[in-house]
Amino acid sequence: MPPVLSLVVPVYNEERNIHAFLTAATRALEAIGESFEIVFVDDGSKDGSLGLLVAATTTDARVRVVSFARNFGKETALAAGLAHASGDAVIPIDCDLQHPPELVAQMVAEWRKGADMVLAVRSSRSEESWPRRTASGLYYRVLRWLTSVDIPAHAGDFRLISRKVVDVLNQMPERHRFMKGIYAWPGFKTATIEFQAAQRNDGGGSKWGFFKLWRFALDGIFSFSTMPLKVWTYVGLLCAAGSFVYLLITIIQVLWFGVDVPGYASVLSVLLFFNGLSIISNGIQGEYLARIFEEVKGRPLYVVGGRWGFENNKRLEAVGGAHAQAQADTDSAA
Ligand code: UDP
Ligand code: MG
Repeated sequence: MPPVLSLVVPVYNEERNIHAFLTAATRALEAIGESFEIVFVDDGSKDGSLGLLVAATTTDARVRVVSFARNFGKETALAAGLAHASGDAVIPIDCDLQHPPELVAQMVAEWRKGADMVLAVRSSRSEESWPRRTASGLYYRVLRWLTSVDIPAHAGDFRLISRKVVDVLNQMPERHRFMKGIYAWPGFKTATIEFQAAQRNDGGGSKWGFFKLWRFALDGIFSFSTMPLKVWTYVGLLCAAGSFVYLLITIIQVLWFGVDVPGYASVLSVLLFFNGLSIISNGIQGEYLARIFEEVKGRPLYVVGGRWGFENNKRLEAVGGAHAQAQADTDSAA
């Protein structure tokens, strides 16, 4: 019998948090009273995380571990976790206790009321600076305007996803995994609950610098909209029309009024401006081209180094989706 609930936990160098997380999560889930499993995905940790996780599978049959052959990133770890989870509801959650496991009970209540996706939304972002909050608010407004998918602003990976939606997510094999968009894409009925994000359990900092956030923001746009690619037709038309009008004006000025053609500075600035525009448009085409290149190679999303605790798991074979299949192929080739 597959369990009712599956926690999916990406783990990268979390040896100081695993014990605390397991204690808190097991306590919170036992209080709910449904059967559950905890699926850890070790994302190529370089510390003792994997050893601790494997040890946990021997003392608790509800703990399962998938380990990657190297670090593939949190989004990919989540994809593997979703493919390996067998519960009727799956809950991705961070290992550093920034996502309080006690909230799962509320999520389950909303799910029982009929929601297929229960978002845990951060009620305040007061721990972040004002410019950062404003930028992120603005960004999500632009993103929603550019895409047809309704991507909620303050919801992260911490959420409950029903089996129906998980099965759809498992069929999304894309390599650029902008998770907020991917979660929103299938649709279905969504409910929200609010929570206050906690500090990291081990007091460590976030691994997100400015440049990484910038790439993340662009990734969202390029993965879910083709507007940046198409807008150049109109930019080009506008420029062409503008320069034609300017040409007419210049001809009239010279023929009728005998005005000298104004010189070098204006020519140079116009030249530089339009060169800039065409380089930007090339760059944007490059972004899409690079994505096509990465998708078209069709490599598996991740390489599994080992699995523990899945012996009695009947639904694993039944897990659908292109990358689950690709995964099985990689395993048999190995
Ligand atoms: N994580 C991962 N692979 C990575 C980086 C992070 O699996 O390459 C995991 C990490 O162990 C944690 C979760 O993703 O469970 C969130 O990571 P972190 O706390 O660094 O991110 P933040 O809280 O700033 O979003
Ligand atoms: Mg964290």
